[in-house]
Amino acid sequence: MGTGPLPKVTPAQLLAECHVAKDLIPSGTVGRKYYRPMKPTYVTIHATENKTGNAWQHALALKRGALRATKRPGGNRIGFLTWHFTVQQDVAVQHLPCREQGEHADFDGPGNNYSIGIEMCEHYGNDLGQTIDRTAKLAAYLMYTYNIPLGHVVPHYHWPRISPYIKQPHKDCPHFLLDNGRPGRTWQWFLNRVNTHYQRIIPGPAQPLG
Ligand SMILES: [Zn+2]
Repeated sequence: MGTGPLPKVTPAQLLAECHVAKDLIPSGTVGRKYYRPMKPTYVTIHATENKTGNAWQHALALKRGALRATKRPGGNRIGFLTWHFTVQQDVAVQHLPCREQGEHADFDGPGNNYSIGIEMCEHYGNDLGQTIDRTAKLAAYLMYTYNIPLGHVVPHYHWPRISPYIKQPHKDCPHFLLDNGRPGRTWQWFLNRVNTHYQRIIPGPAQPLG
């Protein structure tokens, strides 16, 4: 990445820069056993807090149904954790269509009902700067494609987890983009990065990531 202004891009060119690799959980299985359509109006940013698993390993775990959660009222709704993308330095692996709900934010709250969930990898050897920039590009592409405003790109922290099983409703996630566990200067820096990529877009048709 140079220091000069970034080149303008068509939506297709920005998508190519994101390097999205589709590796969906098969429809009708594990975390997609129930079809739950969604009209996305937010993007929620997470960090894996996993020092060993890369994006492909998260994809495999999701497809195998290995990421289980207790299904219960006021908690997880399907018995599995799911989200839409896992980003690492060189790729953004897609697990769910953007038109389906995930299970990554706030149980039966708006974070799950209306947002596209993106996990950022932090395994050893992964370049975090490249991961964050790829995530910013992907968020910008999703904003453009689904008509989502910058103010609707939020950290997991944004969604209170209202549940008898949770003591701390606002999760420190993504921890490395928050300051003292809450959005501050670092989060604002990230949003500026998202907006920088969004402003590069030359209007034109965009391909939904269905
Ligand atoms: Zn999170």
